[in-house]
Amino acid sequence: MDLFGFSVSWELDAPKILNLLEQQHIPIWSNQRSNSSPIVFGGGPVLTANPEPLAPFFDVILLGDGEELLPNFINKMHEIKTFGRSEKLHELANIPGVYIPSLYKPIYESNGNLKRIEPISSKIPSSITKQTWKGESLSYSKVITPESAWPNIHMVEVVRSCPELCRFCLASYLTLPFRSPSLENSLIPAIEKGLSATKRLGLLGASVTQHPEFNNLIEWINQEKFNDIRLSVSSVRASTVTASMCKSLMKHGSKSITIAIESGSSRLRELINKKISEEEIFDAAKYALDGGLKGLKLYGMVGLPTEEENDIEATKELLIKLKKCNPGLRLTLGLSTFVPKAHTPFQWNGVRIESKNRIKNLGKQLKSKGIEFRPESYGWSVIQALISRSDRRLAPVIEAIRKTENTLGNWKKAYQENRKQVSQESPFHQEEMNKMPSWEEIIFETWDTSCVLPWTHLKGPLSNERLIEHRAESLREHPDQI
Ligand code: SF4
Repeated sequence: MDLFGFSVSWELDAPKILNLLEQQHIPIWSNQRSNSSPIVFGGGPVLTANPEPLAPFFDVILLGDGEELLPNFINKMHEIKTFGRSEKLHELANIPGVYIPSLYKPIYESNGNLKRIEPISSKIPSSITKQTWKGESLSYSKVITPESAWPNIHMVEVVRSCPELCRFCLASYLTLPFRSPSLENSLIPAIEKGLSATKRLGLLGASVTQHPEFNNLIEWINQEKFNDIRLSVSSVRASTVTASMCKSLMKHGSKSITIAIESGSSRLRELINKKISEEEIFDAAKYALDGGLKGLKLYGMVGLPTEEENDIEATKELLIKLKKCNPGLRLTLGLSTFVPKAHTPFQWNGVRIESKNRIKNLGKQLKSKGIEFRPESYGWSVIQALISRSDRRLAPVIEAIRKTENTLGNWKKAYQENRKQVSQESPFHQEEMNKMPSWEEIIFETWDTSCVLPWTHLKGPLSNERLIEHRAESLREHPDQI
């Protein structure tokens, strides 16, 4: 085997990657691999946003859209097939968007804070820029199988990124600019290809209904010959929901639609740049009912910067009012905790410790009013924040956790133990581990915008200066929090 690769979409999959390497008899630490080991490479949102906690396990990380990046990488690998491992990595380091973690060295201050991450030689670029695909088409399933996570569904990416720029949103900020391929030349041919193999179609994207021709696409799917196609769409934007869209979704087997409101508080929605009004939320519910759908799912979030108890109260009141105005519509609230993500304006804000109780209390109050409540585990959100904000000193913790149950308590224990005593097999010195930031600092504290971030050497779509501007604009009524 020459190459072994992963796309990582969820932080909590991190320990599983090591198990997969071990199953293939590949040393888990990249510095312990030999010329005969495959090159282990990875990509996807988690690694593109902040690869550092996983960096010591990967030989190569591909930053950004894979359409050109992946072929460029594979072609180079063919060219240098006979080279030794170290020569290969040095050659690959000069392909735009290819990050070779072992060729970069973190430098720490005496207190353990990150000072900079620098290349180990002048022949290696000092920063790497995430790649953006500028072609006409986006991706779609190349393999349709009952063995996949979404069995037998032909997935078609309708849009990439989202122009809305909600201040916490990785799906928008990390993948800018917003792209919407042509219906005629790209989406329809991609859909037709898959529908010759399956009767299930999934339309994907951060905000699919924002495709300028989305209604035409739905009309096209409404042709008689597609009557037996089951259609699902990911979360849609409230202001784009129409009764005819809901009717079409119902005709093709959908029972509900999902809109993300984040908060019932209009103050908070404005602060996070979520440009939807209460009227639009109520209209979406009405259209869902008029279109014959049985349910409306809402996504919300607790722990957003500046959130207070009365914002939670506003969410509760909005849901109760929605329920009252739309009897017969099954209402579900999926609630997550705000997690800071790299390359977004809220990357400097910590997880709010109050979130745990706020989820619990809101759940209690909504369930008693007949509203379904599906919270995401607060513990998982804390682990996500740990992985999304840490530097590469987290790697021995990830290695330690895979031998235990993946729980918040075990992560905290492993974090604290590794600060005192790091495993001998890892390439880390005890001295650097002793000075790791505290658990509280890494997860819950709001960082100064002048601090060196673990992903500073990796360039996303917007500069730090622009992200700071967006954050300051959001928090303008709260100068003490800027
Ligand atoms: S509308 Fe949704 S996808 Fe778009 S930026 Fe906001 S949260 Fe992200």
